[in-house]
Amino acid sequence: MRKFKTESKKLLDLMINSIYTNKEIFLRELISNASDAVDKLYFRSLVDDEVQINRADLAITVAYDKDARTVTISDNGIGMDKDELDKNLGTIAHSDSFEFKANQAAADADESAEDQEGLADKTAQDIADVDIIGQFGVGFYSAFMVGKKVRVVSRAYGSDEAWAWESDGVDGYDIKAAERDTHGTDVTVYLKDNDGDEYYDTYASESGLKNLIKRYSNYVRYPINMEVEKTRELPKPDDAGDDYKPQFENYTELETINSMIPIWKRKKSEVSDEEYNEFYKTDFHDFEDPARTISLHAEGTLTYDALMFVPSHAPYDMWSKDYKKGLALYSSGVLIMEKCEELVPDYFNFMRGVVDSADLTLNISRETLQHNSQLRAIGRRLEKKIKSELENMLEDDREAYEKFYKEFGRTLKYGVYSSYGMAKSTLENLLLFYSAKQKKMITLEEYVADAPAEAEAIYFAAGDSIDRLAQMPIVTTVLAKGYDVLLCDENVDEFCMMALQSYSSDKVVTFDDEGNQEEPKQFAIKNVGGEDLGLTTEEEKKEAEEATEANSGLFDAMREALGGKVEKVVVSTRLTDAPVVLTTEGAVSLQMAQIFKQQPGGDAETPDVHIVMEVNPKHSVFDVLKKAHEDGDSDKVSKYTGILYDQALLVEGLPIDNPLEFSQAIASLMQ
Ligand code: ADP
Repeated sequence: MRKFKTESKKLLDLMINSIYTNKEIFLRELISNASDAVDKLYFRSLVDDEVQINRADLAITVAYDKDARTVTISDNGIGMDKDELDKNLGTIAHSDSFEFKANQAAADADESAEDQEGLADKTAQDIADVDIIGQFGVGFYSAFMVGKKVRVVSRAYGSDEAWAWESDGVDGYDIKAAERDTHGTDVTVYLKDNDGDEYYDTYASESGLKNLIKRYSNYVRYPINMEVEKTRELPKPDDAGDDYKPQFENYTELETINSMIPIWKRKKSEVSDEEYNEFYKTDFHDFEDPARTISLHAEGTLTYDALMFVPSHAPYDMWSKDYKKGLALYSSGVLIMEKCEELVPDYFNFMRGVVDSADLTLNISRETLQHNSQLRAIGRRLEKKIKSELENMLEDDREAYEKFYKEFGRTLKYGVYSSYGMAKSTLENLLLFYSAKQKKMITLEEYVADAPAEAEAIYFAAGDSIDRLAQMPIVTTVLAKGYDVLLCDENVDEFCMMALQSYSSDKVVTFDDEGNQEEPKQFAIKNVGGEDLGLTTEEEKKEAEEATEANSGLFDAMREALGGKVEKVVVSTRLTDAPVVLTTEGAVSLQMAQIFKQQPGGDAETPDVHIVMEVNPKHSVFDVLKKAHEDGDSDKVSKYTGILYDQALLVEGLPIDNPLEFSQAIASLMQ
C-alpha cells in the first residue's frame, strides 16, 4: 500500500468526515475531470498528427449499479499511466494555496463563531471546512464525501496497458495492473451506507443522477451519456383477437443528458426569444417570461459570456431576510456557484442569470484574492450593462418599464438611500415618481424638462396615499404656483429623496439670453412640508414675519396650549384655503418620524422632529382665535388650538395622540 502525502491526507479526512451539505457536487467534480481529460486529448489531436481523434466520438458516460450501490463516471479522454495515477491521485496539487485558504477560512470562521450562539458543538474548523469545500471545488477527492471506496481504472492514450488505483481514503491506496479496452478513465464510487442524514442511494439511481447532471453539468461541451430505462409497446400480432390488450416491454437506451451548447455562448441574433424564455423559466424556476433579456459577450483581459434576465415579478421571498442575490457562475460550462453575490450590486438584486468565463477556472480554485478582484471587475461591467438596458427599456417600452418598476422600484430607491447617495448616478435616471400635475409616473428628467424656467427645485410630498397627498393644502398651493409635486407613498421614498439631495440632467438643455447653452441646472430636492421652499418673495416673507411678531401674544399662548408639541407658531406664506398646516424644520419630516416610530424599538430611536404650526392669516378661524385671545378667553384659545393641531395631522394621514379628547372638544363646540 502507498501512503497519501500529508496534505492529501488532511484533505481526505476533511472529505470523509465532511459536514458539508452539498455532497452531491462530487458528480460535478468527477464529470469536470472527465471533460478536462477529453479536452486534453482533443487538443493534442490538433497539434499532433499522430493523434487521430474524431471529436464526435469523445464522450463521458455515467453508469450506475443499484444492487452493488456504485456509480461510475467514464471518459475516453487522455487517460493516466501508472505514474500519473500515483502522482495525480496520491497527492494534491498546489497544497500551499489550499493551506492558505484553510487558514483564512478558519480565521473568518473564528470571528463569526464568536458572535453567534448555538455554535458550541461546531468548532471553527468545521465551519472553515464547509467554506473551503463550498467555495473551491476540491476535485477528485470529493468522491470520498459519498464513497467509502473509490476505484479508478485508466489507460493512457497511446499505451497498451491499463492500471487500477483503489483506495478507501483512509491511509493509502493501491495501484495494480488492470484491463481496459481503450484509452480513458473509469472512476467508480462505492457509495457509503445510508444514514439518518444522507440517503446515498440517490447517487445510484437514474433520476438522481439525471437531475444532478442537468443541474450542474448541463453545459459541459461533450455529451454526458447514460443508459436510461424506457418502455415500448410491442407490435400487435397479426392473429390478435378483439380482446387484445397492448403489450409492453422494458429496454434501455443510451441518452445524452446534458444540453452541451450553453445558450449564453450563442449569438443573441441566433437565439429566439422563445428559447431564451424557456431557458429562463426552466433554469430559474419561474412561470412567467422575463421582462427583459440581456446578453453580453466580453472579450479582453477577461473573456466571459453573460446572460441575464430582468424577471417580470418579484419572487415570493424577495423581501425576506433569507433572499440571496447573485448570478450563477460557470467556468467553461461547469457550474461553480449557484449564486455569486459579487456579480450584482444590492440594488440590482432581482437580476437572474449566468456568467461563464474560461479565464476563471484556475483562479477560482487557486487564488482567492485574485478571484475576487476578477469577479468584481465583471460585476462592474455587468452593472453598467444592466443600467443601460433598464434605461433602454424605460425609453422604448414605457409600459413594460412601469410594470417592472412596480415590482422592483422599491429596490432601486432603497439602493439610492442605503448607499448614502453613492449609487445616485447609476440609479437616479431609473426612478419614477407620481406627478401630481401630470397624474402619472414620471422620471426626474421629465420633471425638470417640464418645470417653469425659474424653477430651482424638485418638490415632493410624502405620505401614505397618493389621493390624500394630492389634496393636501401644501401640495395644492405649490401646484397653484405652477410647480409640479411628486407624490411619494412608499416609506423609502423620502429617505431616497434625502439621499439624492439634488438632481441635474445634461439632457435637458437651456440657453441664456445670448443664445449660449447653459450648464445643466442643479435642482434641489425639497419636501413641500419643509422649511424654505423658495417660493415666496422677500417681501412676502417680511410681511409674514411682521404679522407673526404682531401676534406673538396669541402665538405664545397657542404654543403653550400644545405643551411642547410644536417648536413655534407662525404666520404662513404658503396657505390659501386651509386654516393651519404643520411643517418641520431640519431634516426629519413628520412622515419620517412616523416611519421611525413604527419600526421595532422605534420610540427610543426616533430622532427629534421640529414641528412648526403655520397659521393662515386670511382664514376666518384666525380672526376667531385673535378675538378669543383679546377677550382673555384662554380656555377657548387652548381648545381651538388643540383641534387645529389634530385636524392638521389627520389631513396628512397621521395619527393623533388622543382621539377621545379630539372628539370631545368638537362635541363641546357643537353644543
Ligand atoms: P484538479 O482537477 O483541480 O487538478 P483533481 O484532484 O480533481 O484536481 O485531479 C487531480 C489530477 O488528476 C487532475 O489534474 C488530472 O491530471 C488527473 N485526473 C483526474 N481525473 C482524471 C480523468 N478522468 N482523466 C485523466 N486525468 C484525470
